[in-house]
Amino acid sequence: MLGTGSSDGWPNPWCAKPCCTSLVEAGLVRSQTSALIDRVLLVDPGAEAPRQAMRSNISLAGVRYVLVSHVHPDHLDPAFLLYRSWVTTEPLTVVGPKPVIDACRPWVRGGNVTFVTITAGRDVVLGPYRVRALPANHDAHGEACLYAIAGPDATVLWGTDTGPWAPGVQRMLAGTTFDLVLLEETFGDTAEPTGGHLNLQTFTAAVGQLREWGSATQSTDIVAIHLSHHNPPPEQLYLRLRDVGARAVPDGTPIIAGGVRSTLTL
Ligand SMILES: [Zn+2]
Ligand SMILES: [Zn+2]
Repeated sequence: MLGTGSSDGWPNPWCAKPCCTSLVEAGLVRSQTSALIDRVLLVDPGAEAPRQAMRSNISLAGVRYVLVSHVHPDHLDPAFLLYRSWVTTEPLTVVGPKPVIDACRPWVRGGNVTFVTITAGRDVVLGPYRVRALPANHDAHGEACLYAIAGPDATVLWGTDTGPWAPGVQRMLAGTTFDLVLLEETFGDTAEPTGGHLNLQTFTAAVGQLREWGSATQSTDIVAIHLSHHNPPPEQLYLRLRDVGARAVPDGTPIIAGGVRSTLTL
């Protein structure tokens, strides 16, 4: 996980209340949610993602695929395509719904960049990864997608940003069991989340549905991401998540998904 915070990050730099000032003092900073899978597949390249990688001592030079959920700036800063073009012409495939691809195109300067416009219900193959786009329940100036990603070692759900599961998600996940579920939990104890996000209550319900559907089992690692200052203090949040069989991790935490299998293939 490169970043695990909401768009404003947690702490929100502008918040004067103890929920954020205590974390500033402790240096517990969550930046915008982004992930790097196997150092080759970058998911949601927000503006902070490249530096998140650098601070984790990880180069992005090996990235060949970029998967983007939606066009909100915490999930996509298309200028990365320009910065990359200054140093490499290695092939890169960028996948996202139409607003994402439209936002990316003007930033390409030569090189070997391929765009794939995807829509909910469609699959795309990226090298060793099979990816299925799922509908997100999120206000995003056009389509927003979630992704089921089946790789050589594990199957992962990229579940941000979204409110309670959109119609069709259950059907599109039929037969899929995840090793790792990365699911947003933006709003903590806020009663009515706005904009298409989950709070602790709806996160719990969403996890319960995944279990009902067989998409999550006892061995599925469920990690709450896109965390904001609307959440209870971290120690309380971790306990609340534990009650649901989930956890949260700090920015820069490596997650080994499908642990047994990936160990065997080493
Ligand atoms: Zn977001
Ligand atoms: Zn968003």
